[in-house]
Amino acid sequence: MEKRDYYEVLGVPKDADEQTIKKAYRQKAIQYHPDKNPGDKEAEEKFKEAAEAYEVLSHPEKRQQYDRFGHAGMSGAAGGGFQGFDMGDIFSRFGDLFEEFGIGGMGGFGRGGRGRGRQAVAKGSNLRVKVKLSLEEIAKGVEKNIKVQKYVPCPDCGSTGAKSPNAVKTCPTCHGNGYTVHVQQSLFGAMQMQSECAHCHGTGKVITDKCPRCGGNGVIRGEEVINLKIPAGVADGMQLSMNGKGNAAPNNGIPGDLFVLIEEEKHPLFERDGNNLYLEHYITFPQAVLGATVDIPTIDGKARIRIAPGTQSGTLLRLNGKGLPGLRSYQRGDLIVNVNVWIPKSVSKEQKQQIEQWGAAPEFQPKNEKHTSFFERVRQFFNN
Ligand SMILES: [Zn+2]
Ligand SMILES: [Zn+2]
Repeated sequence: MEKRDYYEVLGVPKDADEQTIKKAYRQKAIQYHPDKNPGDKEAEEKFKEAAEAYEVLSHPEKRQQYDRFGHAGMSGAAGGGFQGFDMGDIFSRFGDLFEEFGIGGMGGFGRGGRGRGRQAVAKGSNLRVKVKLSLEEIAKGVEKNIKVQKYVPCPDCGSTGAKSPNAVKTCPTCHGNGYTVHVQQSLFGAMQMQSECAHCHGTGKVITDKCPRCGGNGVIRGEEVINLKIPAGVADGMQLSMNGKGNAAPNNGIPGDLFVLIEEEKHPLFERDGNNLYLEHYITFPQAVLGATVDIPTIDGKARIRIAPGTQSGTLLRLNGKGLPGLRSYQRGDLIVNVNVWIPKSVSKEQKQQIEQWGAAPEFQPKNEKHTSFFERVRQFFNN
Protein backbone atom coordinates (compact mmCIF):
# COMPACT_ATOMS: atom_id res chain seq x y z
CA MET A 1 0.00 0.00 0.00
CA GLU A 2 1.16 3.52 -0.81
CA LYS A 3 2.35 5.33 2.30
CA ARG A 4 0.21 8.30 3.20
CA ASP A 5 1.62 11.77 3.64
CA TYR A 6 2.34 12.38 7.34
CA TYR A 7 0.58 15.75 7.34
CA GLU A 8 -2.45 14.09 5.81
CA VAL A 9 -2.33 11.33 8.44
CA LEU A 10 -2.55 13.87 11.25
CA GLY A 11 -4.81 16.18 9.27
CA VAL A 12 -2.63 19.25 9.73
CA PRO A 13 -1.31 21.82 7.23
CA LYS A 14 2.33 21.64 6.11
CA ASP A 15 3.25 24.71 8.12
CA ALA A 16 1.55 23.51 11.33
CA ASP A 17 3.42 24.41 14.51
CA GLU A 18 4.50 21.98 17.23
CA GLN A 19 1.39 22.54 19.34
CA THR A 20 -0.98 21.92 16.45
CA ILE A 21 0.82 18.70 15.57
CA LYS A 22 0.73 17.51 19.16
CA LYS A 23 -2.97 18.31 19.48
CA ALA A 24 -3.76 16.51 16.25
CA TYR A 25 -1.80 13.50 17.40
CA ARG A 26 -3.60 13.46 20.76
CA GLN A 27 -6.92 13.32 18.93
CA LYS A 28 -5.81 10.41 16.72
CA ALA A 29 -4.20 8.53 19.62
CA ILE A 30 -7.44 8.73 21.59
CA GLN A 31 -9.61 7.81 18.62
CA TYR A 32 -7.60 4.73 17.64
CA HIS A 33 -6.31 3.67 21.06
CA PRO A 34 -6.39 -0.13 21.41
CA ASP A 35 -8.26 0.08 24.72
CA LYS A 36 -11.09 1.73 22.82
CA ASN A 37 -10.92 -0.54 19.79
CA PRO A 38 -10.13 -4.02 21.09
CA GLY A 39 -9.26 -6.47 18.35
CA ASP A 40 -9.82 -3.89 15.61
CA LYS A 41 -6.92 -4.35 13.16
CA GLU A 42 -7.76 -1.28 11.14
CA ALA A 43 -7.75 0.93 14.24
CA GLU A 44 -4.41 -0.58 15.22
CA GLU A 45 -2.94 0.30 11.83
CA LYS A 46 -4.27 3.84 12.13
CA PHE A 47 -2.84 4.08 15.65
CA LYS A 48 0.57 3.03 14.35
CA GLU A 49 0.35 5.30 11.34
CA ALA A 50 -0.42 8.31 13.54
CA ALA A 51 2.45 7.45 15.92
CA GLU A 52 4.85 7.21 13.01
CA ALA A 53 3.67 10.54 11.59
CA TYR A 54 4.00 12.15 15.01
CA GLU A 55 7.45 10.66 15.59
CA VAL A 56 8.71 12.33 12.41
CA LEU A 57 6.83 15.63 12.49
CA SER A 58 7.61 16.29 16.16
CA HIS A 59 11.38 16.08 15.60
CA PRO A 60 12.62 19.21 13.79
CA GLU A 61 15.53 17.34 12.18
CA LYS A 62 13.38 14.49 10.92
CA ARG A 63 10.59 16.80 9.86
CA GLN A 64 12.97 18.90 7.78
CA GLN A 65 14.25 15.79 6.07
CA TYR A 66 10.75 14.58 5.44
CA ASP A 67 9.77 17.96 3.97
CA ARG A 68 12.70 17.82 1.59
CA PHE A 69 12.74 14.21 0.58
CA GLY A 70 9.43 12.66 1.54
CA HIS A 71 9.24 9.11 2.78
CA ALA A 72 12.41 8.28 0.88
CA GLY A 73 14.34 10.45 3.33
CA MET A 74 13.06 8.59 6.35
CA SER A 75 14.75 5.25 6.07
CA GLY A 76 16.95 3.11 3.99
CA ALA A 77 14.05 1.46 2.23
CA ALA A 78 13.81 2.31 -1.44
CA GLY A 79 10.49 3.84 -2.25
CA GLY A 80 10.22 5.18 1.25
CA GLY A 81 9.20 3.88 4.55
CA PHE A 82 9.96 4.22 8.11
CA GLN A 83 11.15 1.17 9.97
CA GLY A 84 7.69 1.04 11.46
CA PHE A 85 6.64 0.80 15.06
CA ASP A 86 5.19 -2.13 16.82
CA MET A 87 2.66 -1.47 19.56
CA GLY A 88 5.23 -1.96 22.30
CA ASP A 89 7.50 0.65 20.72
CA ILE A 90 4.70 3.17 20.69
CA PHE A 91 3.90 2.75 24.36
CA SER A 92 7.50 2.84 25.44
CA ARG A 93 8.27 5.87 23.28
CA PHE A 94 5.13 7.84 24.02
CA GLY A 95 4.27 6.61 27.53
CA ASP A 96 4.91 10.03 29.03
CA LEU A 97 3.03 11.78 26.31
CA PHE A 98 0.00 9.54 26.71
CA GLU A 99 -0.02 10.29 30.39
CA GLU A 100 0.04 13.96 29.53
CA PHE A 101 -2.80 13.33 27.08
CA GLY A 102 -4.71 11.62 29.87
CA ILE A 103 -5.02 8.32 28.05
CA GLY A 104 -4.04 4.84 29.06
CA GLY A 105 -0.37 4.27 28.72
CA MET A 106 0.48 0.67 28.78
CA GLY A 107 -2.41 -1.56 27.89
CA GLY A 108 -0.94 -4.99 27.59
CA PHE A 109 2.16 -3.65 26.03
CA GLY A 110 5.56 -3.31 26.97
CA ARG A 111 8.34 -1.83 28.68
CA GLY A 112 7.16 1.21 30.45
CA GLY A 113 7.42 4.91 29.89
CA ARG A 114 9.03 7.27 32.26
CA GLY A 115 6.10 8.54 34.21
CA ARG A 116 5.27 9.03 37.84
CA GLY A 117 5.61 5.87 39.80
CA ARG A 118 7.19 4.06 36.91
CA GLN A 119 10.81 3.31 36.39
CA ALA A 120 12.95 5.11 33.88
CA VAL A 121 13.62 3.40 30.60
CA ALA A 122 17.11 3.91 29.30
CA LYS A 123 17.52 5.34 25.83
CA GLY A 124 20.52 4.63 23.63
CA SER A 125 22.31 7.50 21.93
CA ASN A 126 22.01 8.32 18.24
CA LEU A 127 24.75 7.40 15.83
CA ARG A 128 25.94 9.13 12.68
CA VAL A 129 27.73 7.42 9.84
CA LYS A 130 28.85 8.61 6.41
CA VAL A 131 28.36 6.66 3.26
CA LYS A 132 30.16 7.54 0.03
CA LEU A 133 28.25 7.06 -3.20
CA SER A 134 29.29 7.34 -6.82
CA LEU A 135 27.07 9.21 -9.24
CA GLU A 136 26.25 5.89 -10.93
CA GLU A 137 24.98 4.53 -7.60
CA ILE A 138 22.93 7.67 -7.05
CA ALA A 139 21.42 7.37 -10.53
CA LYS A 140 20.15 3.84 -9.94
CA GLY A 141 19.70 3.68 -6.18
CA VAL A 142 21.83 1.21 -4.28
CA GLU A 143 21.75 -1.33 -1.53
CA LYS A 144 24.75 -1.32 0.77
CA ASN A 145 25.72 -3.28 3.82
CA ILE A 146 27.64 -1.11 6.21
CA LYS A 147 29.44 -2.21 9.33
CA VAL A 148 28.60 0.08 12.22
CA GLN A 149 30.63 0.13 15.45
CA LYS A 150 28.17 0.62 18.25
CA TYR A 151 26.90 -0.47 21.63
CA VAL A 152 24.99 -3.72 21.45
CA PRO A 153 23.09 -5.54 24.22
CA CYS A 154 25.44 -7.63 26.37
CA PRO A 155 24.73 -11.25 25.50
CA ASP A 156 26.04 -12.61 28.82
CA CYS A 157 23.56 -10.84 31.08
CA GLY A 158 20.74 -10.29 28.60
CA SER A 159 21.40 -6.54 28.86
CA THR A 160 20.55 -6.39 32.59
CA GLY A 161 24.13 -5.70 33.75
CA ALA A 162 23.79 -8.30 36.51
CA LYS A 163 25.92 -11.41 36.90
CA SER A 164 22.80 -13.47 37.60
CA PRO A 165 19.08 -12.79 38.11
CA ASN A 166 19.71 -13.05 41.88
CA ALA A 167 22.15 -10.17 41.70
CA VAL A 168 19.36 -7.66 41.01
CA LYS A 169 17.80 -6.14 44.13
CA THR A 170 15.17 -3.51 44.68
CA CYS A 171 16.87 -0.18 45.26
CA PRO A 172 17.00 0.45 49.04
CA THR A 173 17.07 4.24 48.59
CA CYS A 174 13.87 4.65 46.58
CA HIS A 175 12.32 1.25 47.37
CA GLY A 176 11.98 0.51 43.69
CA ASN A 177 10.11 3.68 42.79
CA GLY A 178 12.92 5.16 40.76
CA TYR A 179 12.49 8.58 42.36
CA THR A 180 12.89 10.17 45.75
CA VAL A 181 10.75 12.82 47.39
CA HIS A 182 12.20 15.78 49.25
CA VAL A 183 10.39 18.45 51.14
CA GLN A 184 11.56 21.94 50.37
CA GLN A 185 10.63 25.16 52.11
CA SER A 186 9.43 27.88 49.80
CA LEU A 187 7.50 31.14 49.99
CA PHE A 188 4.32 29.11 49.75
CA GLY A 189 5.27 26.75 52.53
CA ALA A 190 6.59 23.24 52.33
CA MET A 191 6.66 21.78 48.82
CA GLN A 192 7.20 18.23 47.78
CA MET A 193 9.83 17.79 45.12
CA GLN A 194 10.38 14.63 43.17
CA SER A 195 13.66 13.75 41.62
CA GLU A 196 15.28 10.79 39.98
CA CYS A 197 16.88 8.44 42.49
CA ALA A 198 20.61 9.06 42.34
CA HIS A 199 21.39 5.60 43.68
CA CYS A 200 19.69 3.58 40.92
CA HIS A 201 19.43 6.36 38.27
CA GLY A 202 15.70 5.96 38.19
CA THR A 203 15.63 2.27 37.39
CA GLY A 204 14.36 1.21 40.83
CA LYS A 205 16.88 -1.60 40.92
CA VAL A 206 20.45 -2.02 42.03
CA ILE A 207 22.90 -4.65 40.98
CA THR A 208 24.77 -6.37 43.79
CA ASP A 209 27.03 -8.40 41.53
CA LYS A 210 27.92 -6.90 38.16
CA CYS A 211 28.14 -8.85 34.93
CA PRO A 212 31.89 -9.21 34.31
CA ARG A 213 31.58 -8.88 30.54
CA CYS A 214 29.87 -5.48 30.43
CA GLY A 215 30.86 -4.24 33.90
CA GLY A 216 27.20 -3.74 34.79
CA ASN A 217 26.47 -1.46 31.83
CA GLY A 218 24.20 -3.96 30.09
CA VAL A 219 25.77 -3.02 26.76
CA ILE A 220 29.14 -3.73 25.18
CA ARG A 221 31.07 -2.37 22.20
CA GLY A 222 30.26 -4.40 19.16
CA GLU A 223 29.28 -4.01 15.57
CA GLU A 224 26.28 -4.58 13.42
CA VAL A 225 26.04 -4.99 9.69
CA ILE A 226 23.19 -2.77 8.59
CA ASN A 227 21.52 -3.09 5.27
CA LEU A 228 20.88 0.29 3.66
CA LYS A 229 18.56 0.67 0.73
CA ILE A 230 19.39 4.06 -0.68
CA PRO A 231 16.82 5.42 -3.11
CA ALA A 232 17.88 6.86 -6.47
CA GLY A 233 18.37 10.62 -6.65
CA VAL A 234 19.84 11.32 -3.20
CA ALA A 235 22.25 14.24 -2.91
CA ASP A 236 25.41 15.14 -1.07
CA GLY A 237 24.68 16.24 2.49
CA MET A 238 21.35 14.46 2.71
CA GLN A 239 20.65 12.36 5.77
CA LEU A 240 18.65 9.18 5.98
CA SER A 241 17.36 8.22 9.39
CA MET A 242 16.84 4.68 10.59
CA ASN A 243 14.86 4.40 13.77
CA GLY A 244 16.24 2.13 16.44
CA LYS A 245 19.51 1.37 14.63
CA GLY A 246 21.67 3.54 16.91
CA ASN A 247 23.35 2.51 20.16
CA ALA A 248 21.63 -0.10 22.31
CA ALA A 249 20.46 0.95 25.77
CA PRO A 250 20.93 -0.96 29.04
CA ASN A 251 18.09 -3.13 30.32
CA ASN A 252 16.75 -3.63 26.81
CA GLY A 253 15.81 0.03 26.71
CA ILE A 254 15.02 1.98 23.59
CA PRO A 255 17.89 1.99 21.12
CA GLY A 256 18.95 5.32 19.58
CA ASP A 257 18.55 6.17 15.91
CA LEU A 258 21.09 5.90 13.14
CA PHE A 259 21.62 8.83 10.80
CA VAL A 260 23.31 8.09 7.52
CA LEU A 261 24.97 11.07 5.86
CA ILE A 262 25.29 10.84 2.09
CA GLU A 263 28.59 11.89 0.55
CA GLU A 264 28.74 12.15 -3.21
CA GLU A 265 32.03 11.24 -4.87
CA LYS A 266 33.31 13.56 -7.58
CA HIS A 267 32.68 12.04 -10.99
CA PRO A 268 35.52 12.08 -13.53
CA LEU A 269 33.19 13.20 -16.36
CA PHE A 270 29.93 14.59 -15.10
CA GLU A 271 29.18 17.69 -13.11
CA ARG A 272 25.90 17.64 -11.21
CA ASP A 273 23.46 20.53 -10.86
CA GLY A 274 20.32 19.34 -9.09
CA ASN A 275 19.03 16.53 -11.28
CA ASN A 276 20.81 17.76 -14.40
CA LEU A 277 24.24 16.55 -15.44
CA TYR A 278 26.84 18.43 -17.48
CA LEU A 279 29.37 16.85 -19.76
CA GLU A 280 32.31 18.47 -21.54
CA HIS A 281 32.65 16.56 -24.78
CA TYR A 282 35.30 16.98 -27.48
CA ILE A 283 34.79 16.37 -31.20
CA THR A 284 37.35 16.54 -34.00
CA PHE A 285 37.81 19.55 -36.25
CA PRO A 286 36.47 17.65 -39.33
CA GLN A 287 33.42 16.49 -37.31
CA ALA A 288 32.73 20.10 -36.35
CA VAL A 289 33.03 21.29 -39.95
CA LEU A 290 31.24 18.46 -41.72
CA GLY A 291 28.83 17.24 -39.07
CA ALA A 292 28.84 13.71 -37.63
CA THR A 293 27.13 11.16 -35.47
CA VAL A 294 29.13 10.57 -32.30
CA ASP A 295 28.86 8.40 -29.19
CA ILE A 296 28.91 10.18 -25.87
CA PRO A 297 29.02 8.74 -22.36
CA THR A 298 25.90 9.13 -20.20
CA ILE A 299 25.36 8.09 -16.59
CA ASP A 300 23.76 4.85 -17.78
CA GLY A 301 25.80 3.95 -20.83
CA LYS A 302 26.55 5.34 -24.26
CA ALA A 303 24.21 7.48 -26.30
CA ARG A 304 24.47 8.56 -29.90
CA ILE A 305 24.08 12.22 -30.81
CA ARG A 306 24.05 14.17 -34.06
CA ILE A 307 26.54 16.99 -34.54
CA ALA A 308 25.32 19.50 -37.14
CA PRO A 309 27.76 20.73 -39.81
CA GLY A 310 29.43 23.98 -38.72
CA THR A 311 29.14 23.31 -34.99
CA GLN A 312 31.14 25.79 -32.89
CA SER A 313 32.95 25.04 -29.66
CA GLY A 314 30.62 25.91 -26.81
CA THR A 315 27.45 24.62 -28.47
CA LEU A 316 25.12 23.09 -25.90
CA LEU A 317 23.08 20.00 -26.65
CA ARG A 318 20.42 18.64 -24.37
CA LEU A 319 19.54 14.98 -23.92
CA ASN A 320 16.14 14.84 -22.27
CA GLY A 321 15.81 12.47 -19.34
CA LYS A 322 19.48 11.45 -19.34
CA GLY A 323 20.18 13.18 -16.04
CA LEU A 324 19.45 11.88 -12.55
CA PRO A 325 16.07 10.72 -11.24
CA GLY A 326 14.31 13.00 -8.78
CA LEU A 327 13.74 11.74 -5.27
CA ARG A 328 10.19 12.92 -4.97
CA SER A 329 8.97 13.23 -8.52
CA TYR A 330 10.88 10.36 -10.15
CA GLN A 331 11.12 12.65 -13.16
CA ARG A 332 14.61 12.52 -14.53
CA GLY A 333 16.77 15.56 -15.21
CA ASP A 334 18.63 16.17 -18.47
CA LEU A 335 22.16 15.70 -19.68
CA ILE A 336 23.60 18.92 -21.07
CA VAL A 337 26.54 18.40 -23.39
CA ASN A 338 28.98 21.25 -23.95
CA VAL A 339 30.55 20.52 -27.32
CA ASN A 340 34.21 21.46 -27.71
CA VAL A 341 36.38 21.18 -30.79
CA TRP A 342 39.64 19.37 -30.18
CA ILE A 343 42.68 21.25 -31.47
CA PRO A 344 45.67 18.96 -32.08
CA LYS A 345 48.76 19.91 -30.11
CA SER A 346 51.23 18.78 -32.77
CA VAL A 347 50.84 17.91 -36.45
CA SER A 348 52.99 16.33 -39.16
CA LYS A 349 54.78 18.34 -41.84
CA GLU A 350 52.21 17.41 -44.50
CA GLN A 351 49.29 18.23 -42.22
CA LYS A 352 50.92 21.56 -41.49
CA GLN A 353 51.05 22.46 -45.19
CA GLN A 354 47.41 21.44 -45.73
CA ILE A 355 46.23 23.39 -42.72
CA GLU A 356 48.10 26.47 -43.88
CA GLN A 357 46.34 26.16 -47.24
CA TRP A 358 42.92 25.87 -45.56
CA GLY A 359 43.70 28.64 -43.17
CA ALA A 360 44.17 31.11 -46.02
CA ALA A 361 40.74 30.33 -47.56
CA PRO A 362 37.92 32.85 -46.91
CA GLU A 363 35.66 30.17 -45.30
CA PHE A 364 38.22 29.75 -42.54
CA GLN A 365 38.28 33.37 -41.44
CA PRO A 366 36.78 33.72 -37.97
CA LYS A 367 34.11 36.23 -37.07
CA ASN A 368 34.40 37.84 -33.71
CA GLU A 369 31.42 37.10 -31.52
CA LYS A 370 30.82 38.45 -28.06
CA HIS A 371 31.91 35.87 -25.53
CA THR A 372 29.21 34.62 -23.19
CA SER A 373 30.04 32.63 -20.09
CA PHE A 374 29.12 28.99 -19.85
CA PHE A 375 26.39 29.56 -17.27
CA GLU A 376 24.98 32.45 -19.24
CA ARG A 377 24.70 30.14 -22.23
CA VAL A 378 23.05 27.49 -20.07
CA ARG A 379 20.54 30.05 -18.87
CA GLN A 380 19.73 31.17 -22.42
CA PHE A 381 19.52 27.56 -23.47
CA PHE A 382 16.87 26.76 -20.89
CA ASN A 383 14.90 29.88 -21.74
CA ASN A 384 14.60 28.87 -25.39
ZN1 LIG B 1 26.63 -8.09 30.76
ZN1 LIG C 1 16.64 4.01 43.61
